[in-house]
Amino acid sequence: MLKSGKDHLEGLRDGRVVYIGGERVADVTKHPAFAEAARVVAGMFDAKRAPENRDLFSYEENGERYAMWYLRARSQDDLRRRTRCHKAIADLTYGMMGRSPDHVSGFVTGMSTNPAAFDTEKYKFGANLLKYYEYCKAHDIFSTYAVLPPQAARNPEFYVKKNLPVPTLQVVREEDDGVVISGMKMLATSAVFCDEIWIGNLLPLAPDQVKQAITCAVKVNAPGLTLWSRQPLSMASNNRFDSPLGWCFDETDSMVMCDNVKVPWERVFVMDDAIKARAIYIETPAHCYGNHQSNVRYWSKMQLVLGLCSKVAQATGANEVPAVREVLGRMASLEALIAGLVHGQIEAAEDWPKGHKTFNRRMMYAALNWCTESYSEIIDQLRELCGGGVFQMPASVSVMNDAGIRKEFEMYWQTPQLPALERMKLMKVAWDMVGSEFAGRQQQYEKFYAGASFIVRNHSFREADWKYFDGIVEKLMASYGVPDAAAKMKAAE
Ligand SMILES: Cc1cc2nc3c(=O)[nH]c(=O)nc-3n(C[C@H](O)[C@H](O)[C@H](O)COP(=O)(O)OP(=O)(O)OC[C@H]3O[C@@H](n4cnc5c(N)ncnc54)[C@H](O)[C@@H]3O)c2cc1C
Repeated sequence: MLKSGKDHLEGLRDGRVVYIGGERVADVTKHPAFAEAARVVAGMFDAKRAPENRDLFSYEENGERYAMWYLRARSQDDLRRRTRCHKAIADLTYGMMGRSPDHVSGFVTGMSTNPAAFDTEKYKFGANLLKYYEYCKAHDIFSTYAVLPPQAARNPEFYVKKNLPVPTLQVVREEDDGVVISGMKMLATSAVFCDEIWIGNLLPLAPDQVKQAITCAVKVNAPGLTLWSRQPLSMASNNRFDSPLGWCFDETDSMVMCDNVKVPWERVFVMDDAIKARAIYIETPAHCYGNHQSNVRYWSKMQLVLGLCSKVAQATGANEVPAVREVLGRMASLEALIAGLVHGQIEAAEDWPKGHKTFNRRMMYAALNWCTESYSEIIDQLRELCGGGVFQMPASVSVMNDAGIRKEFEMYWQTPQLPALERMKLMKVAWDMVGSEFAGRQQQYEKFYAGASFIVRNHSFREADWKYFDGIVEKLMASYGVPDAAAKMKAAE
């Protein structure tokens, strides 16, 4: 089934508990903090159902159509179809929404190609995972995940000494029909717009953290679950002109609080196994499918940044200066670089797991690392091109409402390149990309969405075939020996 945007929004009115500070949000689809972004999310579901997008966003299986992000790739062409779909979804938000419906669904789909990774001697949860995949696929479920312990939970002794519960999420009880979980998990981007939250552990746990090793899926409106939103960024202004990106593309981030939330056994995927809790992302293509989407989404954003660099340089006339052209050339090469990293993952696809194809893992991690490392520098180039132009604009587009002010604005703010209003419009987009609070959150996101940089680089370390690289050095060194001093002396005589 392919859900419509209207159906998805209807599903969000399910009694979920969302707080903005001390305010309980009555309806996330109507609250001014979330309404515009909710409409954008609904638009993704509608785009998928549009007849002209049929083969871009969905595929057919046994006579039914399903979202493309649930496609299990068996060929390079399947991988290409996934990539094309990720790109089209990302383009809808210019890459501003990272946890779109094709992100966590990619994890679940990747896992479903190797369900055996979920089976242990004690628990056979592979069957649960497969059922969950089929459920998500059949109901066009939008999931996010919260797979990190809160920073507050790093010193458990502090809480134990005070006789307080350690805040990180864990199993507090097992019952015949499921487990009961309590505690916090971070940081569920998009959760307010989702149907479900995947709870898990992407960072290694200590072997004794067995009760925290729970991996499960919960509905956003599960009794006892609350979402604590960070400050929404969509209300920085009262119109899209003044806040063109933040106005409608704030995907939100929330802490997930669970107070005795019941999880039925069929939604439990890892239990009491600190090693398995992390291994499921690596022993299946989950991490690779999910983060390939992130690479593609970044590419969309890079294209907007490149366009902004060009337009801003044209607006100031600096595009004629050779040094500025060089900057633009460099930015263009970076856009092509991420495009190449995305396509390379398909060309060098891996035959893994059995019967399936997966994006090349090392190239995916290389792209992830490059994206994480480069974002600040890329944004800084745009910032430099903007100069002080972003602050020469009036506070808001309301200047157009007063005939006298408007006349002055249109006369004095125009340049040979642009009329005043067009120039202001461009500078507002540029500022939302480099300097507004929305821009600041984007920067934090690009640095941390896949974990801190040392975590990202560790993935590359793990996947590299060190034996092969060491072997190259050894082969070279074996190709020559210690010079024969006596022979040399003889030759010299
Ligand atoms: C905007 C945003 C959206 C996010 N969305 C999601 C989401 O949807 N789902 C989800 O589960 N998580 C999400 N995250 C959480 C994200 O995964 C974590 O923020 C990330 O893993 C870093 O963890 P941390 O915030 O606890 O930082 P820390 O681990 O505390 O790191 C803080 C700093 O200390 C450094 N540091 C810490 N320990 C070490 C060490 N041992 N060696 C070297 N340096 C170290 C780090 O490099 C970093 O610079 C999101 C985060 C952000 C910022």
